[in-house]
Amino acid sequence: MKHLVALLLFLCSTGAYAFSFQDFNGRCGDVKLFVGPVERNKLAVTDADDTGGYIVLDPLLIQTVSPQALTFIYFHECGHRVNGDSSLGYRSYNAEQKADCYAAKRFSGEYGEQTLNSVLSELVLINGTPRSINIWNCRK
Ligand SMILES: [Zn+2]
Repeated sequence: MKHLVALLLFLCSTGAYAFSFQDFNGRCGDVKLFVGPVERNKLAVTDADDTGGYIVLDPLLIQTVSPQALTFIYFHECGHRVNGDSSLGYRSYNAEQKADCYAAKRFSGEYGEQTLNSVLSELVLINGTPRSINIWNCRK
């Protein structure tokens, strides 16, 4: 019985969404995707390597945000790759805005503005209102 309760709690805590690497395959060139711990206070990181770069998503992030929000965050990291921000260290606010705008345009183009709006509602607690307004304003 104890094991059954533990199993039910695990299933409830992870929700119905099962993360799949295939959902992201080829969606950012030849960038490789990993799941693993990232720097403190970050949800995801990207950097270059000898074979085209990689994106790392935090395992806790995968369990807590919706699949749409996860895709938006993936597109943001992809935006850093597209914009040539290859450094793992500090990135300027301008570089973050440009990656946000890449994600906003790409996401709204693929999923529509209404879905982008609901993702921003979900992420406003993480991103803050000014950043969410910037993302919304550069979606086109
Ligand atoms: Zn960023």
